[in-house]
Amino acid sequence: VTVLGSSSSIPRPDRACSCYLVRRGELAIAFDMGSGSFANLRRHLPAEDVTAVVISHMHPDHFLDLIPMRYALRYGPRANGRKVRLLLPPDGEQLLRKMADAFDSESCVDYLGDVYEISAYDPTRALHLGDATLTFAPTAHYIPTFAVRYQADGASLTFSADTALEPRVCELGRATDLFLCEATLLPGVHETNGRGHLSAREAGAMAREADARRLILTHYGSETSDAELISEARATFNGEITVADDHLKLAIG
Ligand SMILES: [Zn+2]
Ligand SMILES: [Zn+2]
Repeated sequence: VTVLGSSSSIPRPDRACSCYLVRRGELAIAFDMGSGSFANLRRHLPAEDVTAVVISHMHPDHFLDLIPMRYALRYGPRANGRKVRLLLPPDGEQLLRKMADAFDSESCVDYLGDVYEISAYDPTRALHLGDATLTFAPTAHYIPTFAVRYQADGASLTFSADTALEPRVCELGRATDLFLCEATLLPGVHETNGRGHLSAREAGAMAREADARRLILTHYGSETSDAELISEARATFNGEITVADDHLKLAIG
């Protein structure tokens, strides 16, 4: 897996919003396509070589770069090579099309559908892409959001998406090799309008509850250092802890 966006909702220099690229042979699955992440993706492979993009939820820091990716697929050097599968959460297509409807159609038959093969995933069922299996769990967030587990050849990665403490996400990540977990909240900061995110300490608690082998902290803001994030998560999790960084590559398994 290559981290292509490790920032929380505000992208910053050298750190884009949510995106993780999992590659195995010809298979290349991007989980989320947040603001700034598509430029990062281009360092690793051309847009046409992406098998599928899977979007966890319809917050802009998780899907906005589907638009620049669309430009690459439509006007790039290998334009119209083939459509990329775009797997959205239920009802995601409606929101995405509403946004795209505000843009000039550029004489396209279908602004998005010309380059993406769009469908909604059913979060209650397993999804097969090549020899990989994806399974989902609803998270505790402000809008419908789905954590996802990628599994292939006995190795697994679980991506928390955006969530507060949620046992169903821990269950999804049971004994996973890599648990990519959000750590948005600063230590001691409490959400006032309902819960929807985790602190690094809570991310550690989620990893412990899931019995994950390794915790990768991600979706964090600019106010914390790696050392702070790790020491917070260390308070609750004994396994290996890594702070995600854009272009960081990790083997799954
Ligand atoms: Zn987010
Ligand atoms: Zn969100």
